[in-house]
Amino acid sequence: MRKLTIVDHPLVAHKLSLMRDKTTPSAQFRGLLREIALLLGYEVLRDLPTEARRIETPIGSAVVPFLRGSEPVLVPILRAGNGLLDGLLELLPSAPVGHLGIYRDETSLAAVEYYCRLPRELGGRLVIIVDPMLATGNSARAAIGRLREHGAGEVRLLCLLAAPEGIEALHGAYPEVAIVTAAVDQHLNEHGYIVPGLGDAGDRMYGTA
Ligand code: URA
Repeated sequence: MRKLTIVDHPLVAHKLSLMRDKTTPSAQFRGLLREIALLLGYEVLRDLPTEARRIETPIGSAVVPFLRGSEPVLVPILRAGNGLLDGLLELLPSAPVGHLGIYRDETSLAAVEYYCRLPRELGGRLVIIVDPMLATGNSARAAIGRLREHGAGEVRLLCLLAAPEGIEALHGAYPEVAIVTAAVDQHLNEHGYIVPGLGDAGDRMYGTA
């Protein structure tokens, strides 16, 4: 899979534009995030392995593809990652889900982990971190470090918006991690927010701004 995939699709662009608008209410914001997750999920899961099996359709016999092997493990970074998770779970209803609680220190912007609950077996499975905003890259790097400690092999990051600084920081530390995003914005501001971005994704989702 490519190291950086920008999902260039009018539906994604339209929904993202609605999310950027500061007048979009939380309920609509959450709905749009779930819908975009379905479209981004399609890309991040594009190369899942399949195997051919024979089945009988009402008309005849056919050899058709089915997903092969264990489903990917989904790991949302709390709390905003939960918004993308909902859509992904519609695509992969029985995927195991690990949770990582990471907040960023408001002054240093360093990642602080406060919760970690992961499935026992990560080795040999694709692990997809879901976090809407790749800003400094600190949370994503901390998450990958923790996942690797737990035996994760291939890790991908699914986000909604990325800053060039975050992509560089993440690929500086983990060049093998593929990033799938709806857009790459201009830069980070002095508070570590993506410009123009959409504000604080968690606050926008839950009306806590
Ligand atoms: N996290 C957010 O929610 N928004 C940003 O712009 C950066 C980090």
